[in-house]
Amino acid sequence: MSATQGPGVDAISGEGEGGGDANTSTAGVCVVAAAAPHVLPSSINEIWESPAINKFEKIVNGKLKKMSNCAHCPDDPQGNRPADFGHHNATKLLAHVTCTPGQGIRPCSGSIPPEYRRLYRDLHTRKINRKENKQGAKEQMEIEIEGHQVSYTKTLFDC
Ligand SMILES: [Zn+2]
Repeated sequence: MSATQGPGVDAISGEGEGGGDANTSTAGVCVVAAAAPHVLPSSINEIWESPAINKFEKIVNGKLKKMSNCAHCPDDPQGNRPADFGHHNATKLLAHVTCTPGQGIRPCSGSIPPEYRRLYRDLHTRKINRKENKQGAKEQMEIEIEGHQVSYTKTLFDC
């Protein structure tokens, strides 16, 4: 009787990798908004496509009035919603959420989530470009606008 069957399956995994894994490329671009109340489109062509911007009609003094509002706007100190806008002016609403001055509308005082800001800035930039094309491409002007536009979009969202 020779029972020399030793199950010597000692799997000692000796992983001795002394590699310097310096893979710390943290490009913080991917911001996942977990608490987004609405499904956001990846891009919008009209400000009304934003789930936070609403347009509707209301009967005021027997007349149908065009109204709009912005869900980013915070409640006033009394806990009421701010007054609706009495128009369907997409340019103004875009100016509102991008805090663009000189458009005859107050800037949004709410804290607009970054994913919304991206949408609005993208739409705003495309609108500016469209306007420039309409103006008939004057070379001198384009250069001027280009330089202007950079600093302009940068300061847009400081509100
Ligand atoms: Zn607002």
